[in-house]
Amino acid sequence: MASRTAEPAPNCRRCPRLAEHRRAMRKVQPEHHNAPVPSRYGSNARLLIVGLAPGARGANRTGRAFHGDASSRALFAGLAAAGFARSADSAVLPTGVALTNAVRCLPPVNRPTAVEVSRCRPFLEREIAQWTRPTLVKPRVVLALGRVAFEVLAEIAQLPAATFSHGAEFDLPGRATLLASYHTSLQNMNTRRLTPEMFEQVLHRARQIIDGA
Ligand code: SF4
Repeated sequence: MASRTAEPAPNCRRCPRLAEHRRAMRKVQPEHHNAPVPSRYGSNARLLIVGLAPGARGANRTGRAFHGDASSRALFAGLAAAGFARSADSAVLPTGVALTNAVRCLPPVNRPTAVEVSRCRPFLEREIAQWTRPTLVKPRVVLALGRVAFEVLAEIAQLPAATFSHGAEFDLPGRATLLASYHTSLQNMNTRRLTPEMFEQVLHRARQIIDGA
């Protein structure tokens, strides 16, 4: 399991706009998490899924990455269909799966700026770096949900020629593979830019890679 040292402090202020948004949201919805959302690690995680940022009704409410909103339900439905999870209940993190976001704080209208993505990048970078230590179980697949997460991961892995497209895959250091998928956002699912079948295909590919098929 990755160390919690990769996590930002609850009062991180590297992004003034997002820190102010957290403060404003605490007044409106004091029962919500309204702080940087930590990663979630199932035991022996071989699949790391990296999303964009906490959702207002999901992780920023529950304090748990990919739990509590439609995007989380779509993600977990795919995990269950591809055999990574026993059920589509996002409260139960499956063995072998880890979840995190490129940006740890809720951005207004779900859109972090490029500067905010860059400021939060060291936390993801540290997390990935810990995964490459020989003493830890290494990921076999890092799945980027959406272009922003993909581009941050490609930067971290120093893959300047890697371009985002749904289903694309690239070699990462340490025998891992970077896979790309459209994000399981409500908008993408409603417009069918991403269908459940398209997402399951990517997860089935992740399963093949992890199983060495
Ligand atoms: S998004 Fe990341 S860097 Fe920015 S304030 Fe939140 S935890 Fe800090």
